[in-house]
Amino acid sequence: MPRGVVPRQPARTGRQDKVHVARALSPAKSDHKQKNRGKHAPAKGKAPVSRGNAGQNPAKGYNPIAPERVAEILKRLNELYPEVTCALTHASAWELLVATILSAQSTDVNVNRVTPELFRKYPTVAAFAALTPEQLEPDVRSTGFFRNKSKSVVGAAKKIVADYGGEVPDDIVKLLTLPGVARKTANVVLGTWFKKAEGVVVDTHVHRISRRLELTKQNDPQKIEQDLMKIVPRERWILFSHQVIWHGRKLCFARKPKCAECALENICHAGDKTWSTVEMHKNAQG
Ligand code: SF4
Repeated sequence: MPRGVVPRQPARTGRQDKVHVARALSPAKSDHKQKNRGKHAPAKGKAPVSRGNAGQNPAKGYNPIAPERVAEILKRLNELYPEVTCALTHASAWELLVATILSAQSTDVNVNRVTPELFRKYPTVAAFAALTPEQLEPDVRSTGFFRNKSKSVVGAAKKIVADYGGEVPDDIVKLLTLPGVARKTANVVLGTWFKKAEGVVVDTHVHRISRRLELTKQNDPQKIEQDLMKIVPRERWILFSHQVIWHGRKLCFARKPKCAECALENICHAGDKTWSTVEMHKNAQG
């Protein structure tokens, strides 16, 4: 052998054989994960725990938004989350509007800690409209971005009192005239309180999971919403958003989603799965 040439050693990971084993989640080492797996996921011992095909391009003819695939996704979401709704505590359209504005860049749990006292202190829209943003700031400080949120809440209250008779409008065009209200907030209020399906709520969870499930290739929330409105039946728009949001909270986390426990696993080709029995598509990432 010529000097300086070192024979290649097999990689510890086994990559020379294209067998990347997700060791921590392999059947032999994760019985508890297997027991908890959704009923659509492969049974213990039957499925290869392989990520050797990670990063493949979709097979020819594969259509991620084929009606039958979308219907299967909706069916499984229904089985997983049959009766979910908005997790923000509220007793009126106004309270839901305020809670949704406060939930930006915050968690629902965090917002739910703040709002009961907030609505005790200021029980009506008019009470909020009488404030300056600075007066509201201490009450919403813990939700983050409190200066902007205070401006939005007080501004929305003033406009509702001045232009809409003190009632939150049940119309998307009017809702979008309120300070701090974009399509996501308007859709939450319309869907959850007024039961009106005017669009699909695209929050951070819907954004990520729609991309992972290849229901959209877009990154802009408005474009994602347009894509979802085309493929999800209108009567499912409200429930679909709630279900996907719950899925994002329970399993399909931004980092380290719990794919081995997910009932959508064998029809999900996300490129950033942590465990897979199907080929993974590198562009399908959250
Ligand atoms: S990325 Fe994982 S957790 Fe998310 S939907 Fe796909 S299989 Fe389920």
